[in-house]
Amino acid sequence: MSSLLVDNIGELVTNGAGEGPLGIRRNAAVLVEEGRVVWVGPSAYAPAADRRLDAGGAAVLPGFVDSHAHLVFAGDRAAEFAARMAGQPYTGGGIRTTVGATRAATDNELRATVRRLRGEALRQGTTTMEIKSGYGLTVADEARSLRIAAESSTETTFLGAHVVPAEYADRPDDYVSLVCGPMLAAATPYAKWVDVFCERGAFDVDHARAILACGQAAGLGVRIHANQLGPGAGVRLGVELDAASVDHCTHLSDADVDALAGTAHSDGSGTRTVATLLPGAEFSTRSPYPDARRLLDAGVTVALATDCNPGSSYTSSMPFCVALAVREMRMTPAEAVWAATAGGARALRRDDIGVLIPGARADLVVLDAPSYLHLAYRPGVPLIRQVMRNGVTP
Ligand SMILES: [Zn+2]
Repeated sequence: MSSLLVDNIGELVTNGAGEGPLGIRRNAAVLVEEGRVVWVGPSAYAPAADRRLDAGGAAVLPGFVDSHAHLVFAGDRAAEFAARMAGQPYTGGGIRTTVGATRAATDNELRATVRRLRGEALRQGTTTMEIKSGYGLTVADEARSLRIAAESSTETTFLGAHVVPAEYADRPDDYVSLVCGPMLAAATPYAKWVDVFCERGAFDVDHARAILACGQAAGLGVRIHANQLGPGAGVRLGVELDAASVDHCTHLSDADVDALAGTAHSDGSGTRTVATLLPGAEFSTRSPYPDARRLLDAGVTVALATDCNPGSSYTSSMPFCVALAVREMRMTPAEAVWAATAGGARALRRDDIGVLIPGARADLVVLDAPSYLHLAYRPGVPLIRQVMRNGVTP
């Protein structure tokens, strides 16, 4: 059994026992065996190992957990972005443009895009990335999107209810029946989660409830796109269905915040339903950011994710989202880094990632910086020196 010691870590973010909310340890070392962390402690007392990785006094943190991404698509929407920056509002209608391109693409074209974006994210420190379908919107195209997504992630999400496709525009009830019936059946072998875009212009709360309940009955976990473009009942629906995460949360009422806070675990470890904030979407649509402070102050567990997609947030960079969350959403650097690592893990109901403690997966990032603070302090700078996934440097 080969072991690897990562030592000479100036600042180790464990998200476990240690100083402050990030569980920081100084002058630390991490011992890895068979892809798992088996020991964490002072560098001076580190056990012997077969191999050694000298962090050179830099900061080390858990790999980022990006719990919300749409990677299976074809084409891009750079022209739509340019028009938006020139003053046109974002409505979500551009999704249909990507649906057309995705249906016309070959499997290998879609696969190449997923791999390219997954690799891009990995180089920026993302060791776990959720991947959604949602640009096929036929039984065959949703099934193949998820089959291709499953080649790159175990966290795959069926989003057949992304938008009502043009051919069902005047009979949305029929589309919901398709999603709940043959489309769900074809998707389930490749999906872990079910998701709905619950928004004006997409799916109303009754349709969303029907689709999520069908997915849940088929054994999938629930997540939901909610309250992005305006107020609505999506967040409360997510809480009602024990969603792992309600995503966007840009327009919340007091009742929404109370509903999320009401899912708190009795041991004080946060809420069972996580609010996942996607500041790349507000950045790319030039929209007001969600009020992270209000959620955090109410005790709601917050995650940060990229929402990587060709329309409303074409970034794969978790460090960029951390910087936005700190600058624009009044999160502290510690809160933002926690949300991008342990928070993402909570949003996927995982306890083996997003932390660097014995038993966790050896997914970590060595920064080109002495502290995690630099992720927000030095925005746009490539600070990821080295990434390890399952104990291996990819
Ligand atoms: Zn999304």
